[in-house]
Amino acid sequence: MGGMTAHLPGWRFLSVVMVVCFVTAPGLEARVDPTHGFDVFSQDEEVQLGKQNAVEVMKQMPVLPNSDPVVQYVQSLGARLAQRAPGYKWPYNFHVVNVKEINAFALPGGPIFVNLGTIQAADNEAQLAGVMSHEISHVVQRHGTRAASKQMGAQLPLAILGGLLGNSTLAKAAELGISFGVGSYFLKNSRQSESEADLLGTDIMYDSGYEPRQMAVFFEKLEKQAGGSANSLINQFMSDHPNPGNRADAVSKEVKTLMTRTYLADSAEFRQAKTRVAGMKPLTSAEVAAMAKQGGTPGAGAPASTDVAPSANLKVFSHNEYQVSYPENWQVFGDASSNVTIAPQSGVSQNAVAYGVMIANYQPEESGANLDTATHELLASLRQSNPDLKQIGHDEAIRINGVAGKSVDLIGSSPIKDAEGKVLEERDWVVTLARRDGTVLYFVFISPDKDFGPMRPAFEAMLRTVQLK
Ligand SMILES: [Zn+2]
Repeated sequence: MGGMTAHLPGWRFLSVVMVVCFVTAPGLEARVDPTHGFDVFSQDEEVQLGKQNAVEVMKQMPVLPNSDPVVQYVQSLGARLAQRAPGYKWPYNFHVVNVKEINAFALPGGPIFVNLGTIQAADNEAQLAGVMSHEISHVVQRHGTRAASKQMGAQLPLAILGGLLGNSTLAKAAELGISFGVGSYFLKNSRQSESEADLLGTDIMYDSGYEPRQMAVFFEKLEKQAGGSANSLINQFMSDHPNPGNRADAVSKEVKTLMTRTYLADSAEFRQAKTRVAGMKPLTSAEVAAMAKQGGTPGAGAPASTDVAPSANLKVFSHNEYQVSYPENWQVFGDASSNVTIAPQSGVSQNAVAYGVMIANYQPEESGANLDTATHELLASLRQSNPDLKQIGHDEAIRINGVAGKSVDLIGSSPIKDAEGKVLEERDWVVTLARRDGTVLYFVFISPDKDFGPMRPAFEAMLRTVQLK
């Protein structure tokens, strides 16, 4: 596969620029420098990504209005902490979710969400400031997009498949199903990320006048209370922010590098907020989920079948290497020289290709490999990036307009979910055609398994029109 990376458009390997930030502070105290890692997103893209996902979170979660006094308090505390954040000045913004579970999460580029239950559980202002400083640090360190960048690297073969949706990294991320919304894999931080966020958070707290050890005290309190039991009020936090080990020791060690100072006592605003939240009845996550269901919210967005249903009228797409006709209500993503996806607009708008066909060229590793070998090589590389893909039945020899081909049916998991949030099964019908130069032109026809029957005639109709050049 190695040789194919060159085909990948839009990947920027950001040069590592170390910005050493001496944050105010009298004397020569040490501050933790933000680390920098491989990240395919530009800063602007990161901000845009966070904004898009924040809109989704607000649709799905009971986020309190900015007019709420508790929100106003959290926003002013957040703004003070963010001023002390090192590195790039992300546009931080703070929100309170009216949910009982103790949790907080940060989206790329600045949006930070704190559950009401976290404020209810904080014994003092420094503990709340600790959670928030920790979240700010995840933003500073770009932990979300760095994890996503890794994931995108791992999905390389499929990324090559789709030269689709233009060349932007954001589109590429969407196409790969990279999202940071509610329940997203990328909100779960690694232990490495956790210890970075703890250390940076320690400095932010210290520089803002809050006793940094309270952050570790709060986290350890949560962990003790959860204590392996199924305490769902707390477990979510521990699962999103796992203990990197010796949290308290690490924080104490960092504090020792700083000068002794007096820390702030709880503000009057904190005490008022505590009184207010004590009288509030936040929803549980289960209640939020039940409400979403009652409201008929279509899970993580199964595309409306009316948009997807392929028109019987076909349109011609002429690529440099082949020609194919496709339903006129679908669209071509890509151009005459790139890999191409042909799909209904709503079949790709939900973070990935759920309905449609990807068309690309495959160069067998062994030159002179026959179609059979080349097809199996291709399937192996597809499976490498999608380990749950399984072949169903045997591969079949076919002929399309005089060209020898192979047809293979695979089943895997769809990027879309049903109303209960269950991942749907996906059918991937792979067709390979032998080209004269020894390479293979291949098609992956994609549909959720439940819709594959009705979609298949349209896929076959497309295939019948394929002409190699
Ligand atoms: Zn964390």
